[in-house]
Amino acid sequence: MQAAPQPQPGIMDIALYQGGASKVAGHDDVLKLSSNENPHGAPASARAAARQAAEAMHLYPPTDHAELRAAIAEVHGLDPERVICGVGSDEIIHWLCQAYAGPGDEVLHTEHGFLMYPISARAAGATPVRVPERERRVDVDALLAGVTGATRLVFIANPANPTGTLLSAAEVTRLADGLPDGCLLVLDGAYAEFAGDFDGGLGLGGERGNVFATRTFSKLYGLGGMRVGWGYGPRAVVEVLNRIRGPFNLSNVALAAAEAAVRDRAFAAFCVADNAEQRDRLRGSLAQLGLPSDPSEANFVLARFAGPEEAVACDTYLKSRGIIVRHPANYGFPDCLRISVPDAAGNDRLLAALADWRAA
Ligand SMILES: *Cc1c(COP(=O)(O)O)cnc(C)c1O
Repeated sequence: MQAAPQPQPGIMDIALYQGGASKVAGHDDVLKLSSNENPHGAPASARAAARQAAEAMHLYPPTDHAELRAAIAEVHGLDPERVICGVGSDEIIHWLCQAYAGPGDEVLHTEHGFLMYPISARAAGATPVRVPERERRVDVDALLAGVTGATRLVFIANPANPTGTLLSAAEVTRLADGLPDGCLLVLDGAYAEFAGDFDGGLGLGGERGNVFATRTFSKLYGLGGMRVGWGYGPRAVVEVLNRIRGPFNLSNVALAAAEAAVRDRAFAAFCVADNAEQRDRLRGSLAQLGLPSDPSEANFVLARFAGPEEAVACDTYLKSRGIIVRHPANYGFPDCLRISVPDAAGNDRLLAALADWRAA
């Protein structure tokens, strides 16, 4: 019998990505706060558009995503020629690594950064390099010090996951200014809409040759299951990524849902406002229970516990009440729980359970 072929170097070094759990045995009313999904679901506009598009599922989707790109460009005031759409922003992260980094090249990410960066770097045969953060914040000086002649990509999420902290626009610009030629800064803006008036790097991605911004429909727009993300940056980068993009990467249904969602500004505004209100309430109640957290600019809060045992005990207790949060030990936070901001009713339930846990 012949042996199976060996995979490319780096692939077997990939640690499998762990998605947020969604089930607890014995509970049919689970409150899932482990994946930063929108507690209000998808907008009715997007659900209606998806149902209608599903009628034409026998037809291939367009390859150029012209209508969705036009809608994104219109809503955000961008050049549609510099927008590219992917199967979640995960796919765009993957293309960036595949296109720009290979064996011998380095891909920088930060200590507590999103695990898709090292996964995609390894899948491309490149070497992921982890740079320390400072007090749960991206540290521009550490990143610049980590750059070598082999660095091709620098990934930061802003706001960051799982910390929820935001790097100021001035610091982001300082980082972009400090990178050498031939190195691309990728600003992952998965949570950008939740952060005050921060543009998620779209401005920098529009004006500079070395900055590329990514966005997603999975968080604010409630389309995590549809898998749609997009990127914005220099035309030269978009042209490169378009060559490796599968021509039919997004389905008719996904395209229609995303276009309706991005045009539904009332839904987005409502969700941003509700998130800010419930996030403040959650942080305040956590503080009263003796659980500090950094000010979050995203749709989750990273609660800090006395130690890993206490975090695990709280996680276990919440599960017994049918509430699933994230224990981000694999992000370097064994003493924390990351809690997606629920809606008002979910917050009532969560805060009651946390109070009972503390009182027990
Ligand atoms: C959730 C998330 C994404 C979005 O991934 P999609 O593939 O678009 O669903 C990207 N980056 C970070 C940091 C995230 O937390």
